[in-house]
Amino acid sequence: MNMNYTAEELAFRDEVRAFLDEKLPADIAAKVKGFRRLSKEDHQRWQKILSEQGWYATHWPEEYGGVKWTPVQKHIWDEESCRYGVPRSIPFGVNMVAPVIIKFGNEEQKQKYLPRILSGEDWWCQGYSEPGAGSDLASLKTRAVRDGDHYIVNGQKTWTTLGQHANMIFCLVRTNTEVKNQEGISFLLMDMDTPGITVRPIITLEGEHEVNEVFFEDVKVPVENLVGEEDKGWTYAKYLLTYERTGLAGIGMSKAALSHLKELASRRLKNGRPLIEDPSFSQRIAKVEIDLTAAAISNLRIIASVEGGGVPGAESSMLKVKGTEIRQAINDLARRAIGPYALPFLEEELDMDYEGDFLSDENAAPLSAQYFNNRKLSIFGGSNEIQKNIVSKMILGL
Ligand SMILES: Cc1cc2nc3c(=O)[nH]c(=O)nc-3n(C[C@H](O)[C@H](O)[C@H](O)COP(=O)(O)OP(=O)(O)OC[C@H]3O[C@@H](n4cnc5c(N)ncnc54)[C@H](O)[C@@H]3O)c2cc1C
Repeated sequence: MNMNYTAEELAFRDEVRAFLDEKLPADIAAKVKGFRRLSKEDHQRWQKILSEQGWYATHWPEEYGGVKWTPVQKHIWDEESCRYGVPRSIPFGVNMVAPVIIKFGNEEQKQKYLPRILSGEDWWCQGYSEPGAGSDLASLKTRAVRDGDHYIVNGQKTWTTLGQHANMIFCLVRTNTEVKNQEGISFLLMDMDTPGITVRPIITLEGEHEVNEVFFEDVKVPVENLVGEEDKGWTYAKYLLTYERTGLAGIGMSKAALSHLKELASRRLKNGRPLIEDPSFSQRIAKVEIDLTAAAISNLRIIASVEGGGVPGAESSMLKVKGTEIRQAINDLARRAIGPYALPFLEEELDMDYEGDFLSDENAAPLSAQYFNNRKLSIFGGSNEIQKNIVSKMILGL
């Protein structure tokens, strides 16, 4: 595998840098780099800029308004955008439901939904998990019963990320109880304004409202909102998960978080000297940096195999486990770097316009929130235990 970029790839990297220098709003980048709260409006403003550049839908065929980037170009974008402070792309519309609609939806669904995803008119959320169906997703119970031209939906979804902002939800629903679990599931698109849908917040450890419970009570969904065939939704759901798991290793984000950690540890003092010079602390930073470098190389190895026509297999699971462990280790070190100030956590400090006194310093303010929030990394997108099961079967042959 050649570890150097080609001339074309270097030119692409220059193009990305020039675009970000010119178009990334400074206020949004400051929030991202300072780990502050981003509003729905911030996300939408940035998405519009990306869409105008033609760089929003990097998984879509060009005929639907996508851009055909190679895996290496996607990797360059990941590295550069994290370094510059680009907001994380909200994946539910562009990277999850859209590829399913493109592959399995009918022409009418493509015409209706894809342009609205590109323009940012629709904000989608993902209705897969239920209180009794997470790792064992196929046991989901939300029921959809056909009644003439409609399905009547009853049940509950949970952990619905940013569902409070969404006007559309894609759901896995049970349409047949007489067959094996996987064979009786359908993939339905629903308007969040439909009577009978209720969204309730779940407040996470750091006091933020990021996830929700969504309840369905006799919700009437037109039959034309079914994607593909009835009872075949499991196939589409699995196809979507291959997109969800792509990029979960978050190498670019870990690199940005590591450089923030080093900068923080250079400013904070221990026994009158910068913390980064403390032998024990610097050893911990070195360990995580070595792990990150190894994960970045593995990531490139997988990219190279995809470029050569392969498909990412169980290696993605390995990368998800390592990548999320590294990110959590960096968060842990950052929390340790601010010492006792990690404890009295003031939620208001997460807002960019906060004008009160900071408990510690401005850059340290959101570190506890981030530490707690990122506990999620080893749970969502298939928990790390589930990924380890995949590695043990597919790679180790156990
Ligand atoms: C912050 C956050 C956001 C999320 N956003 C969404 C969203 O937008 N939409 C959505 O549909 N879902 C979302 N999820 C749900 C997520 O996909 C599930 O939490 C995840 O699949 C795990 O399911 P569970 O929580 O039911 O845990 P369970 O499946 O009950 O697992 C509990 C524990 O048991 C372990 N375990 C379970 N089965 C096995 C096994 N076979 N072998 C070994 N260990 C096992 C798990 O690893 C875990 O540690 C989100 C979750 C979080 C935390």
